[in-house]
Amino acid sequence: MGINTNLFAQEESIKWDEEWDIVVVGSGFAGSAALCQGIELQAKTLMIDKMPVLGGNSAINGGAFAIVGSPQQQERGIEDSYELYVKDIYKAGLGLNQKELVEVIAKNGFEAYKFTTQRGVIYRDNLGHFGGHSVPRTIWPTINSGGKITIPLQEYALKKGATIRTKVILDDLIFDKKGKKVIGIKVRENYKFKFDPNFNEENNKTGVTKYYKINGGVVMATGGFSYDVNFRQKLDSQLTPDLDCTNHYGATAYSLKMMMKHNVKTKDLAWIQMGPWGSPDEKGFGIAPVFAIPAFAYGVMVDARTGKRFVNELADRKIRAEAILKIHKNADGSLTHPIVFCDSVGATGTRKENVYRGIHKKVIHKFDTLEDLAEFYNIPVESLKKTVEDYNRYVKNGKDEEMNKPFFKLRNKFVPDISKPPYYAFRAIPKVHHTMGGVAIDTKARVLDKNENPIEGLFAAGEAVGGPHGASRLGSCAIPDCLVFGRIAAQSAVELLKV
Ligand SMILES: Cc1cc2nc3c(=O)[nH]c(=O)nc-3n(C[C@H](O)[C@H](O)[C@H](O)COP(=O)(O)OP(=O)(O)OC[C@H]3O[C@@H](n4cnc5c(N)ncnc54)[C@H](O)[C@@H]3O)c2cc1C
Repeated sequence: MGINTNLFAQEESIKWDEEWDIVVVGSGFAGSAALCQGIELQAKTLMIDKMPVLGGNSAINGGAFAIVGSPQQQERGIEDSYELYVKDIYKAGLGLNQKELVEVIAKNGFEAYKFTTQRGVIYRDNLGHFGGHSVPRTIWPTINSGGKITIPLQEYALKKGATIRTKVILDDLIFDKKGKKVIGIKVRENYKFKFDPNFNEENNKTGVTKYYKINGGVVMATGGFSYDVNFRQKLDSQLTPDLDCTNHYGATAYSLKMMMKHNVKTKDLAWIQMGPWGSPDEKGFGIAPVFAIPAFAYGVMVDARTGKRFVNELADRKIRAEAILKIHKNADGSLTHPIVFCDSVGATGTRKENVYRGIHKKVIHKFDTLEDLAEFYNIPVESLKKTVEDYNRYVKNGKDEEMNKPFFKLRNKFVPDISKPPYYAFRAIPKVHHTMGGVAIDTKARVLDKNENPIEGLFAAGEAVGGPHGASRLGSCAIPDCLVFGRIAAQSAVELLKV
């Protein structure tokens, strides 16, 4: 089966409004990396985004970026390797991952990091240990925000002569007469996005239609579809509308569905990730996931009904989210939320401002004693104290006998135990967070048709792509994926200009 030729406009019927070498659709990490790369390779490059603000999920993202060989790892004496990185991603993805794509990410992640530093991104001296990673390898820009990566990249590209437009939605791809090659796109300028979880973006007809001719290629950096409540529930019936979502409102399946009409191959669509670190005490992503980084690494998560741990706090997201959902609903219909907490030393694993913000929002609570913590959350106190006692012994011995959580030496000291009050805690609930599935690509970021042949002139990168992360994406691995393949997509599009 090839491209569905009935569905696209034919070359000769188009009156082009503009002409570009590369059009990047989407302004997150993948799009921003593609934009920089395209303009640096002397291509006339345009980036469009349907939203009124730039950045998509990337701009509201936590900025956690996993790479091998960062200065932060070297300075702390952490030994790591590409092989281990690939192994960790593969393990979390239950081996469903497209391994050649994972290897490209692993081998080019450090280069992508350097690419950002050379274009104005600054990273702070901090190293995090995210669930599912064998070693600490996560770094952050100056604050926990992906905007600190996308904005400098976009500013850099603008200075180099790139063009960026908001409120422009891509509606369709335009192929040549044979239906083999993408030669342009149909867009609407002045599009007004309206949010409603049941809103079908197809019914939004705002804006003025324009046709852009494209000489090199289109880079689909259009992100995931976690906020497309209807579409996600068709793929996974458990993902009911009542589940909260961490994404920006524009994370719909509009672009994916358009590409599917053109018989593009998709991969892993039904694998949709829940983040285990959400809080029922705030909407969206919020502050809990930021505090959860040290709380999971240097503290414990207990079942509020028993005071006992029930999962390795550094297991990957899928394992933790499933473990929480298993204990969430009680037989009588009431709900239980597990409690995640660490002590005052553990809490220094994130910036003070993050803890204060959480306390101010009444998401994080501070307690002088374990008794107070137990009383507040209605946890059996003796059981809770025993859990902490046992955990502290495991930390001292460097081995978690109960849940096999990995303990690491940072600057030659073991991670903190839970012994220095005050204690900081939050209630946890999984939230819909990441769509592993998307269009299939090869290692040159070329989008494949259903026969697995590359479609000329069509490239994709970032969360729009299915394959690298298999069943579940490891935390802090989306940024390297987006940056690495965003750059590759633009390089491949520029190659077509030479043909
Ligand atoms: C709250 C939150 C925190 C996260 N934290 C981390 C983290 O710390 N580390 C990590 O590695 N990952 C994290 N992730 C995941 C990561 O942020 C995303 O996977 C990543 O941002 C996706 O980047 P992208 O460039 O593929 O897409 P996005 O950044 O989502 O950008 C896609 C853009 O395409 C636009 N678009 C879509 N369709 C069209 C169309 N038809 N026409 C025009 N424009 C269109 C959208 O409006 C959007 O702006 C987080 C995710 C969320 C939601």
